[in-house]
Amino acid sequence: MAYIEPAPLLDKENPFEAMMSRFQTASQILGLDDEVYNVLKSPARQAIVSLPVTMDDGSIKVFEGYRVIHSTILGPSKGGIRFDPNVNLDEVKALAAWMTWKCAVVDIPYGGAKGGVCCNPREMSAGEIERLMRSYTLSMIDIFGPDKDIPAPDMGTGPREMAWLMDEYSRTQGMTVNAVVTGKPIVLGGSLGRTEATGRGVMVTAMSAMQKLKINPYNATCAVQGFGNVGSWAARLLAERGLKVVAISDLHGAYHNENGVDIEAAVKYRDDNKGSLEGFKGAERISGEEILTLPVDVLVPAATEDVINSRNAEKIQAKLIVEGANGPTSSKADGIINEKGIIVAPDILANAGGVTVSYFEWVQNRLGYKWTAERVNRRSDRIMKDAFDHVFKTSQDYKVPLRIAAYMVAIDKVAKTYKYRGGY
Ligand code: NAD
Repeated sequence: MAYIEPAPLLDKENPFEAMMSRFQTASQILGLDDEVYNVLKSPARQAIVSLPVTMDDGSIKVFEGYRVIHSTILGPSKGGIRFDPNVNLDEVKALAAWMTWKCAVVDIPYGGAKGGVCCNPREMSAGEIERLMRSYTLSMIDIFGPDKDIPAPDMGTGPREMAWLMDEYSRTQGMTVNAVVTGKPIVLGGSLGRTEATGRGVMVTAMSAMQKLKINPYNATCAVQGFGNVGSWAARLLAERGLKVVAISDLHGAYHNENGVDIEAAVKYRDDNKGSLEGFKGAERISGEEILTLPVDVLVPAATEDVINSRNAEKIQAKLIVEGANGPTSSKADGIINEKGIIVAPDILANAGGVTVSYFEWVQNRLGYKWTAERVNRRSDRIMKDAFDHVFKTSQDYKVPLRIAAYMVAIDKVAKTYKYRGGY
């Protein structure tokens, strides 16, 4: 299988420091006092656990697991669980804080958390993963809870793992507690609309930004990097709203068609081809780097972090970047992009549609009731649109980029709530 080298991660930063540098800038502009700044800069709680698991060959392997609660100021903490060989405490701490800002920016009543286990699920059997997930859940039993800390899937975990988590937690409580986790299979209380929620939020953000920039969607072109859950849904929904999606890509290759890529055909091709676009006809093959620098109106990076970096930022021609991925723009590239006058709808705003519908899943579980997909979509669209408008107004009032404005909206909300609640 041909493999196109992904963009080198030249600006690879310590994720916690990258998040902190943006947090610091926004806090300074807000004039946040030292007391609140100090509370928000460190996580509220960090748990590190050792998880012995019996492997299929009878040996016992010990995995290291983490759960970091960054903040519970706005409500119970919320954040995914990552199963990946590169998981480390620094990364989990950064992602936990990111969740605090993401929930605050879309105004949902959650704090931020993140969890992870250092393991390689691709090399483990379903039984080994199940024992690891159940063991992790038991180790976190006094941390998790529908009113305390609500996990969700992240890299390397999905509905199957969330079902095991829910079951293990429920056993310890002697009753079914489906609100303890989101991202569950629909039959266990998962929400309709969750699968497409993040891509849909990217679409709503892009449409809201285009309206402000006076870009007519019917004359606009778009390139989408990453054709997994977020990228393919964003591409599909943007195409439905009139944009011409001229390029798509995944880890195996990038494809360009100036007359517009047929997104439904690309989705079908990917699904029939073990999740890969490799060999997709109906578009010309270009390099993975080129997709980021095409002359399009809207660029949606929806693959991975640091793809827009100090090496390629100068060459970007899009008028608007909507960050579907977490951290696709390095903080070094931020400055170059701003200088060029490109508008960036930042990750903590643009990809918050996922956590918004996770919140709806929890609400439905607690109501003991199921909403229609139409109701879920309508409500999440409204939340995403309101959040965009709030961030846009802040950016105009303070004359700052949308990224800093998003942090300001989030930090201001958490800081004000902290002031009302008070501390020791
Ligand atoms: P996914 O695994 O479904 O898809 C990722 C896609 O990106 C795949 O098509 C993969 O081939 C491609 N890819 C990976 N590296 C690439 C590279 N260097 N160049 C081009 N393509 C590359 O993942 P996803 O759920 O769509 O998540 C994508 C991003 O969005 C991640 O940063 C994730 O953290 C973020 N995100 C996801 C959600 C969600 O609800 N799924 C919510 C918020 C943020």
